[in-house]
Amino acid sequence: MKIHMDLDSFFISAERIKNPSLRDIPAAVGGRGDPFIFDKKQKSKIDIVQKNSGAFVPNIFYNSDSTFKEYFIEGEKIRGIIITASYEARKYGIKTGMTIREALSIYPKLVVVPPNHLYYHSLSHKLKEFLQTKIPLVEQFSIDEFFGDIKGWIKEDEIKEFLIYLKEEIKEKFSLPISIGAARSKWTAKLATSFAKPNGIKIVKDEEIDDFIKDIPIEDFPGIGRGYAKRLHRVKIKKLGDIKKAKELFYSWKKPGITLYKRVLGIDNEPILISHPKKSIGISRTIDPIEDREEIKRRVVIMSRYLAFSVMKLNLNPRYFSFKIVYDFKGRSRAYELLNRPFSEKLLKDIMLKLFLKADIYRYSKIIRLSMICGKFYEKKIFDIFTYEDDKKAKKLSFQTNKARKKYGIDTLKWGVEFI
Ligand SMILES: [Mg+2]
Repeated sequence: MKIHMDLDSFFISAERIKNPSLRDIPAAVGGRGDPFIFDKKQKSKIDIVQKNSGAFVPNIFYNSDSTFKEYFIEGEKIRGIIITASYEARKYGIKTGMTIREALSIYPKLVVVPPNHLYYHSLSHKLKEFLQTKIPLVEQFSIDEFFGDIKGWIKEDEIKEFLIYLKEEIKEKFSLPISIGAARSKWTAKLATSFAKPNGIKIVKDEEIDDFIKDIPIEDFPGIGRGYAKRLHRVKIKKLGDIKKAKELFYSWKKPGITLYKRVLGIDNEPILISHPKKSIGISRTIDPIEDREEIKRRVVIMSRYLAFSVMKLNLNPRYFSFKIVYDFKGRSRAYELLNRPFSEKLLKDIMLKLFLKADIYRYSKIIRLSMICGKFYEKKIFDIFTYEDDKKAKKLSFQTNKARKKYGIDTLKWGVEFI
């Protein structure tokens, strides 16, 4: 059997460890998309986490130790959104993604605290290390979710007892509530966890799978997004049970269809992945609407600096670069480039500035979000011979500046343009 473990309202549970006054009350962790990296006088509070950055975890953080007022209040305005709400808060209808203003209007006594992502990461990492001592194969699926394979380790009829023991150990050692689902497939186990929440256990035996999934809406299944669900609704597939009845249709969709079909029926046999190779790494920021292109360029340079620092710290050599802009009228534009050149901070900065100019097709519109991504990492050193010598120099320089930054903080060395 495979198990799926999901910490209950992880960020707020983590805050409760440090601050017991948050226990048993409607409380939430809020976030602001970290616009602080653009502050001209900001001192380095930012760090990069590489220890357990799962496939879904960003790894550039503003480490906030500030008060509600410092973090969320700007002038007269309350900024930010709810990232995680406690179960006590959820009872009042407070949800992830809601603005803090809205949440406070629903329940004015709600306590909202700023996030401490580095702390959550280190806690998650410690929990993973602990789980590895209890279960032979552990996969970190996200910051607060893990898969484990207990086949041949725990006897079928002792699974429930083992899961209760595991839950109690985690509660005792970490003070963190967790929910656990178990089934023969990872994905059925994950689905089961959503029925175990909060603070429970749900085991789905092989012979119970068909009955268990029958009436569950398709959008509740891990990996079926809104777009996919819409497509399925059009062919009258609304419940997981309908998927089982449409085997031929799913098989006609080749690999993606077959994969989903098998996952839903719990016959995928997908293994626990001990490490997720990084496919891409990126940074994005939502900003107040800005029209001034010089200010945007300054921000592109800053974001490139942070991204380059992470790429080099993780020792990656990307070949794919993309830049995305979101405009205030909800328009989007993206530009990308593929190239084989040794990575350096200068290279990244030059590419991103170039891609920004290319992507910026509504030159007189305000911009509200910038994102940049590097990917397609490669091992082999096949470089463009025409730029090789210059790139090598730039790489050497970046290597030295990065060494200094690691030692003295990421803001130690900046490009001239950032001070304009
Ligand atoms: Mg969770």
